[in-house]
Amino acid sequence: MEANYAPLWESLGLDLDAHDELLRVLGEGYSNIFLSQKDRPEGMAYFDFVMSEVHGLRIKELIDGQKEGRKVIGSFCVFVPEEIVRAADATLVGLCTGADFATDEVDKLLPRNTCALIKSAFGFKLGKVCPYIEAADLLVGENTCDGKKKSFEVLDKLVDKLYVMDIPQMKSPEGRALLKAEYARFKKAVEKLTGIVIDPARLRNGIEITNNKRRALHRLNSFRSADPAPISGLDALLANQVYFYDEPARFSESINKISDELEQRIKVGEGPFPKGTPRILMSGCPMAVPNWKVPWIVETSGAVIVGEESCVGERGTQNLTDDTGETVDELMDNILDRYFKIDCAIFTPNPDRQQHIEEMYERYNADGVIHYGLQFCQPYQFESINVEATLEKKGIPALRIDTDYSVEDVGQLKTRIEAFIERIA
Ligand code: SF4
Ligand code: SF4
Repeated sequence: MEANYAPLWESLGLDLDAHDELLRVLGEGYSNIFLSQKDRPEGMAYFDFVMSEVHGLRIKELIDGQKEGRKVIGSFCVFVPEEIVRAADATLVGLCTGADFATDEVDKLLPRNTCALIKSAFGFKLGKVCPYIEAADLLVGENTCDGKKKSFEVLDKLVDKLYVMDIPQMKSPEGRALLKAEYARFKKAVEKLTGIVIDPARLRNGIEITNNKRRALHRLNSFRSADPAPISGLDALLANQVYFYDEPARFSESINKISDELEQRIKVGEGPFPKGTPRILMSGCPMAVPNWKVPWIVETSGAVIVGEESCVGERGTQNLTDDTGETVDELMDNILDRYFKIDCAIFTPNPDRQQHIEEMYERYNADGVIHYGLQFCQPYQFESINVEATLEKKGIPALRIDTDYSVEDVGQLKTRIEAFIERIA
């Protein structure tokens, strides 16, 4: 980073030494994993820049926006409706984190059998290295899995700006009514925070901004069904991760530029991996920045990832919100319709997810599915058993892996993933 952001980070209460160390490790990892790839689309230079400035320029933009009255809302889950946040001229940023930090302190506070994603979010808070948590005016926690639900009781003691949203566990009329009531309550909370009353025009605008981001990613992903794939899975994952941080219009434009490039690449049969490279669909727990471990292993073991059935991927972005409607109530119902379709493993039963995995496998011309579960993630680990068995029964090769954010199991994972790739090649 060229600019000196130290005063900005200091003003947010970050531990500058620890934060410097985090950026050093991240920068090194990024360079080894991303910049070492061959034949990347030129448009990825934008994402390299975004990542190099993810704790710098982007934070400065958010703080500058706050000075002009734009609030920042941090979220841990794709159930938090971005449309409502944008309708109030506020910014939504993702807070899930993908690296271990301050683990000793985290282990004193949370049970050891907590998933790495939750532990990581706490580690970033306790280690004072996340400018997004510190800069946010409101943090939205959601009652999804038990780990998150109970951890928010702990987080509530560490921050004074936590808002907890209840989330249904069944796709029943009662579940829908619960989510409807929670979205109405959230809209009121956002209005109170921003001082802006959300009218139909504002809500429609929020829907349009959010849909445009999703549309752009849909377009990019559509090109990944080609052989050779015109973009690596790592770069596509990065685009999905940046989705949670970047300014929406700039993000959509950048994704559309890369998509133009991918379209040209397909015409001439160009891509980072040769035609005929085994193709993997990843499925399972979300991979937040900088969780690149398994995709990196897959793509350095002779395969290419062609899709992500994940909240940092298609589970999070797959449906658009209908923008037709004259009243706030009608538009809020459209938002509800869209989010109630999210097939997160916290729902029981959850047949839509199985169907989505199979549909993605076909659509992306994949050769096999790797189910990615974080250790101690009960919802996804439970589902993975049935997902694997059902896929195999249908003749779809599947590999189930459970891991965390450490590098200790890299060798073992590589051996298993290489054997799987050999099986589907
Ligand atoms: S996996 Fe479930 S709990 Fe996690 S971000 Fe997605 S919807 Fe939310
Ligand atoms: S990875 Fe699993 S256990 Fe962890 S927060 Fe997400 S749903 Fe909960």
